[in-house]
Amino acid sequence: MGVNGYGTIGKRVADAVTTQSDMDLVGVGKTSPDFVAEQARLRGYDLYAPDRSHADLRASGIEPAGTTEALVEAADLVVDATPGGIGAENAPLYGRHETPAIFQGAEDDSLVDVSFNARSNYEAANGVDRTRVVSCNTTGLCRLLTPLSETFGIEKVRVTLVRRGGDPAQSSRGPIDAVLPDPISIPSHHGPDVQTVLPDLDIDTMGTKVPTTHMHFHAVNVTLESAPTAATVRDTLAGEPRLLVLPEGLGFTGTGTVVELARDSTRPRNDIWENIIWGESIALNGTDLYLFQAIHQEANVVPENIDAIRSMLGVTDGPTSRHRTNEALGLELPVTTE
Ligand code: NAD
Repeated sequence: MGVNGYGTIGKRVADAVTTQSDMDLVGVGKTSPDFVAEQARLRGYDLYAPDRSHADLRASGIEPAGTTEALVEAADLVVDATPGGIGAENAPLYGRHETPAIFQGAEDDSLVDVSFNARSNYEAANGVDRTRVVSCNTTGLCRLLTPLSETFGIEKVRVTLVRRGGDPAQSSRGPIDAVLPDPISIPSHHGPDVQTVLPDLDIDTMGTKVPTTHMHFHAVNVTLESAPTAATVRDTLAGEPRLLVLPEGLGFTGTGTVVELARDSTRPRNDIWENIIWGESIALNGTDLYLFQAIHQEANVVPENIDAIRSMLGVTDGPTSRHRTNEALGLELPVTTE
């Protein structure tokens, strides 16, 4: 595998590839000679870059392994994790080399054959050339809504997304001291993005941004087609390996405590690959389900990228791939047993 774009998502996907016994990492595409490039070198990753960046990389003590073209040619598949819009610019390069490519959430759905979530439509990406792993928020919603739909049926979904202002390293982002309706117009674009994966789902979303960096937070209302008990819903969700239902009484008062849990675990970069669902929040009023969930935006799309690779290359079926990915990553936090 090649990973082009070695930032928040790319560095995590590259590491995840190296944990999978059925994948090898050819190298990573990196354009700027910064501390992140140095960290990639220290991990033993070959760095590929356009010709124009080679002199800068050499000046910082990094010998490029070749051009980005060479990376694309050598890899069976490229995961493009460049910023939104750059993936579309890179698409012709992948096409010239007939290298299948996975793009990320900020690219447009029209760029790809399939917008992908491993739990919702794994088989749809089988054998296609271009897939988009949907955004962190959309991934979190697809993972939650697919088992609810399969088990109870869904009539209507309404979600308010309280989004982090920026990732921890993005000091130029905001807001610093405000709550932003974002976008101000309602419904937000998040519902239509979920529909790129689950086209028949009736979903309305509202978006906000707040001055935190660590997680997104969703207030979810789903009108189901049946009226289960809260305990039944909870058991259904707890049975999904990428949904972590937090036990009651252990002091999980908010996203800060969830991040602290991740810090206390042995996970790389404090990553939380699962949706975090507060068990106490799961409530039913007739057919109306309510719950709170949090999403670690830097991490939750990483297992989905790994599964998208297997689906596109036709390696195995969805359940097997998800299991392999989860096992290799070490998806269970130590505190999860109830
Ligand atoms: P990022 O800015 O952290 O990383 C992008 C990297 O690509 C940077 O290292 C940048 O230098 C590099 N780059 C820029 N142009 C390049 C080029 N032409 N060739 C090679 N490398 C180039 O961005 P990110 O947060 O990792 O986001 C990448 C994609 O993942 C976006 O589509 C984004 O929407 C999506 N995504 C981001 C998050 C998140 O929370 N950060 C979550 C889910 C999905």
